[in-house]
Amino acid sequence: MSETGLCDLAVVGLGVMGGNLARNFASRGLRVAGYQRTVEHAHALAAAHPEAHLRIAEDVAELVKMLERPRRIVLMVNAGPAVDAVLDQLDPLLEDGDIVVDGGNSLYADTDRRVARAEGRPWRFVGMGVSGGSEGALLGPSIMPGGDRYAWERLRPPLEAIAARSASGVCVTYCGRGSAGHFVKMVHNGIEYGDMQLIAEVTALMRAGLGWPWGQVADTFAGWNRGELESYLIEITADILRVPDPQTAGALLIDAVLDRAGQKGTGKWTVVAAAEHGVAIPTIAAAVDARLLSSAKDLRTRAEAALQPVRGAIQGVSADDLRDALYASKIASYTQGFALLQAASEARDYGTNLGEIARIWTGGCIIRAVFLERIRAAFTQTDKPELLMLAPDFVADVARRLPGWRRVVAAAAAAGLPIPGLSASLAWFDTLTQSRGSASLIQAQRDYFGSHTYERVDAPGVFVHSEWPKSPQ
Ligand code: NDP
Repeated sequence: MSETGLCDLAVVGLGVMGGNLARNFASRGLRVAGYQRTVEHAHALAAAHPEAHLRIAEDVAELVKMLERPRRIVLMVNAGPAVDAVLDQLDPLLEDGDIVVDGGNSLYADTDRRVARAEGRPWRFVGMGVSGGSEGALLGPSIMPGGDRYAWERLRPPLEAIAARSASGVCVTYCGRGSAGHFVKMVHNGIEYGDMQLIAEVTALMRAGLGWPWGQVADTFAGWNRGELESYLIEITADILRVPDPQTAGALLIDAVLDRAGQKGTGKWTVVAAAEHGVAIPTIAAAVDARLLSSAKDLRTRAEAALQPVRGAIQGVSADDLRDALYASKIASYTQGFALLQAASEARDYGTNLGEIARIWTGGCIIRAVFLERIRAAFTQTDKPELLMLAPDFVADVARRLPGWRRVVAAAAAAGLPIPGLSASLAWFDTLTQSRGSASLIQAQRDYFGSHTYERVDAPGVFVHSEWPKSPQ
């Protein structure tokens, strides 16, 4: 507590994330006030964790009075109308220089709207992504604030105190103007969808394609986690695949988990935002589509019975090929994600520093990985790559992994095993690296049926129309 007896900051919404964030702030010596619409939950949290000395307010008005000025109030409520509802309550109570932070997974367009709303008011608004799940919130998340720069400077000490630490520093940085923080968090989640899909596909190839027992799959992932693929998601995959099913003796829990993936929307938002910003992100799009198809379990069951596809073992693929296919697809996926961040930064005037984003993702968040250190290095060199995959380090790496990547995709297709993420990544690579592609015909067709015009190869930039004589019927 400060000398005035007032608190240093407040957390509104003490659910899974807010409760742990409040405790994390408190563990760093900050005096934390808390408020939750269901006040008894807030009191229960404070009682369960007396060491945090949380001061619980009965309502928003009391909460505001508990705070040192200018106030710092972090909202951890559900994205959507809940954020506006709390802002409506706070708005008449806040004074010059007070700061409200929305730390939930808000859609960046909503954040744009709230930034605009705050511009006419005395208080400042910060849209901030937080990643790391409940454990990260408690022990050190990766934090992605954006928006008002004055507010960032005032938030910086407490956020740096609670954020994760990695070899490359403390995992919080100013992501840029306006809604940059939530845009960055959205892309983080899109990349997370891609990583999870790629890992799931590789495990399926090991099982259904190579016939490995789960123990061998788990051991392979554990081994990969000691090398270049070291990451949170690879680590937890190895852990998950060893857990016995408490309800069936001798069985593993993974076999009891229904193959219907849930999603809360950030992956879909990433795909929509990419299309709106003119950036192709097929790995992430494939991951979102795969979750959609996974949820159509009954339809898949009927389609399998009706179409009876022949499935077989995969041939001529080694564990090293699978590792290379996974790693190269990750390079493709992160290249797409960072290209989206770059495009959005330019189009929306965020001023996002891509090297800094890679750096704050090296710790605390779900996609944390040693791989991100390579990305940070690529984006902090003087000669920044136009695309991540075009950084010299990655050019050589992809060339080395390409034969294994192709073997995996070809073998899986021949065996009838679905690998939408791995194959979309390779198709993206092959399209990206083909200076003359198949779109000539698309342009000709558009001109044929709609007089949409086209450019000639000998006069790019000049749009012409041709008469395309119809063939005799
Ligand atoms: P919880 O469901 O655990 O908590 C939600 C909180 O929001 C509760 O305190 C709830 O209060 C409050 N709330 C909901 N509706 C309203 C409303 N209309 N007015 C006031 N308060 C309201 O969710 P999480 O803690 O998991 O998530 C919070 C935010 O953090 C979300 O935006 C989520 O996407 C994001 N997030 C979650 C992560 C996770 O791993 N769980 C990771 C990263 C971000 P009450 O109990 O009274 O309903």
